[in-house]
Amino acid sequence: MTSRVLLVEDDVAIATAVVAAVEAAGFEVTWEQDTSGARRRFHEHAPDIALLDLGLPDGDGIALCRWIRDRRPDIPVIIVTARDAEIDVIVGLDAGASDYVTKPFSSEVLLARMRAQLRSTGRGSIGEVLESGSIRIDRAARTVTVDGRPVELRRREFDLLDLLVVDAGRVVTRERLLADLWDVHWDTTSRSLDMHVLALRRRLGDGVVIETIRGVGYRLECG
Ligand code: CA
Repeated sequence: MTSRVLLVEDDVAIATAVVAAVEAAGFEVTWEQDTSGARRRFHEHAPDIALLDLGLPDGDGIALCRWIRDRRPDIPVIIVTARDAEIDVIVGLDAGASDYVTKPFSSEVLLARMRAQLRSTGRGSIGEVLESGSIRIDRAARTVTVDGRPVELRRREFDLLDLLVVDAGRVVTRERLLADLWDVHWDTTSRSLDMHVLALRRRLGDGVVIETIRGVGYRLECG
């Protein structure tokens, strides 16, 4: 099932980049340039998640965020705001936003935040079974087996493995893993991630190879 994204952004360059990145990640995107357009078409589009700019030509994203919250308290709303607008960030979260991303932002960070929000509200591709080589992940049951053998993982280890399996054979960057797993704006040199990868390797055993790409990220070898 494809998740639908409502993007409300009046900056054409930013919106174009976001639409491209979000569509490439498999989401279905509707782009509106102002709050009235977003309100008018909100129900028709029934988004699973909304991305809101704060400074819009006919109003602000905070009012729109409250409006969405009143109608659909179940969907995550991510505020996309300028880097120096600290006050806006606080007010934005106060308005019921689920998270925020500051401009300029990388599409990877935005996608990581979106996935984290969708996962926490159960609107992502929950219920799916993921397989790569000998690894099998049951997302609904949150269980993992390697060659049919059950492996017990802690919550973050499970989420980390899920991210690596989805992109098996490709490098998943530290930036994305940190943003997704810890859901905070973390320093990418943090050792916490490395400790979790070490623990995960230990639990999965020698049959599973998680390669370290120094300073960049990790790659799960396709088995
Ligand atoms: Ca704007």
